[in-house]
Amino acid sequence: MQIKATCAACGSEQLLIPSDDEQDQMIRCGACNADVGDKKAVSEALRKRAKQEAEKAIADLKKSFSKAGIK
Ligand SMILES: [Zn+2]
Repeated sequence: MQIKATCAACGSEQLLIPSDDEQDQMIRCGACNADVGDKKAVSEALRKRAKQEAEKAIADLKKSFSKAGIK
């Protein structure tokens, strides 16, 4: 499972991510050049989303286990 950031303006996944030593830490869209957000903020949002997805997957797994009679 891979969670990607996308451009809010055009939905493109082709984001230009600055390397850590660059002054400008703004992630930009490679397709329409819109600002996607600060690198730190975007990775934080992705981490949060990944955590939610993982928790949801675990909850679903538990549900299917109990449906199958496994405790
Ligand atoms: Zn875009």
